[in-house]
Amino acid sequence: MRDQLEALSELAKIDRGFRQFDAELEELRGRLEELRADVGRIGELLEREKAQLADVERMRGQAVVETEELGERITRSNDRANVARNTRERDAATREVEVLRKEREERKQRAADLEKGVGEVRESITRHEEDFKKLAEALAQEEEHVTKRSGEIEVLRDEITRARADVTKRLRPDVLRKYDGVRARRGVGVAEAHEGMCYGCHVALPPQFYAKLKATGEVMQCPSCLRILIVRSTPAAGAAS
Ligand SMILES: [Zn+2]
Repeated sequence: MRDQLEALSELAKIDRGFRQFDAELEELRGRLEELRADVGRIGELLEREKAQLADVERMRGQAVVETEELGERITRSNDRANVARNTRERDAATREVEVLRKEREERKQRAADLEKGVGEVRESITRHEEDFKKLAEALAQEEEHVTKRSGEIEVLRDEITRARADVTKRLRPDVLRKYDGVRARRGVGVAEAHEGMCYGCHVALPPQFYAKLKATGEVMQCPSCLRILIVRSTPAAGAAS
C-alpha cells in the first residue's frame, strides 16, 4: 500500500513544479503587460503634448501677426495725426494711436507668454521622449527575456510531463482519480499528516483514523479537506514496504 503513497508524493512534487512554472509565466506576462501599458501611456501623453504644442505655436503665431497688424495701424493713425487739418482731427488720431499702442503691448505680452508656453511644452516633450525611449528599451529587453524563459519553461514542462506519465503508471486508477479530483477542486491533491493533524487544512484528525493511517499506510483522505494524507513521521525505510 505504501508504494501508492510514495508515488502520490512524487506526483504531488511534479504537480507543484507545474504550478510553479505556471505562476512564473503568469508573473512574467504580468510584468510585460505592465511595461506595455506604461509605454502606451507615455506614448499617448506625448501625442497629447504634441497636439498642445501645435495649438500654442499657432496661437503665438497669431499674436505675432496681430502685433504686426497693430503696428501698421499705428503708423497709419500717426500719418493721419500728422496731416490733420485741425486740433479735433489730430486729437482723435492721437487718441487712436494711444489705444492701438496699448492693444499692441497686450498682444506683444501675449506672444511672449505663449512663447514661454511653447518652451515649456517642448521641454516636457523632450523629457517624455527620453522616458519613452528608456521604457521602450526596457520593454524590448523584457520581451526578449520572457521569450527565452518561456522556451526554457516549455522544455522543462515537457520533461515533467513525461515524468508525470511514468509516475501515474505506478498508481492504481482509482487512487489517481481520487488524487486528480481533489487536486482539481483544491489545487493540491495531497497533504502532510503529522502528530494527528492534517497540514493541508490544519484540522485535527480523529485519533483512531490517524492511528490507522500511521499503521497501515493506506490511501486515506482527510475527512475535512479530502486531500490524500501522507504521514511525515514514517521512516523512509518503512515507506516502501
Ligand atoms: Zn485536511
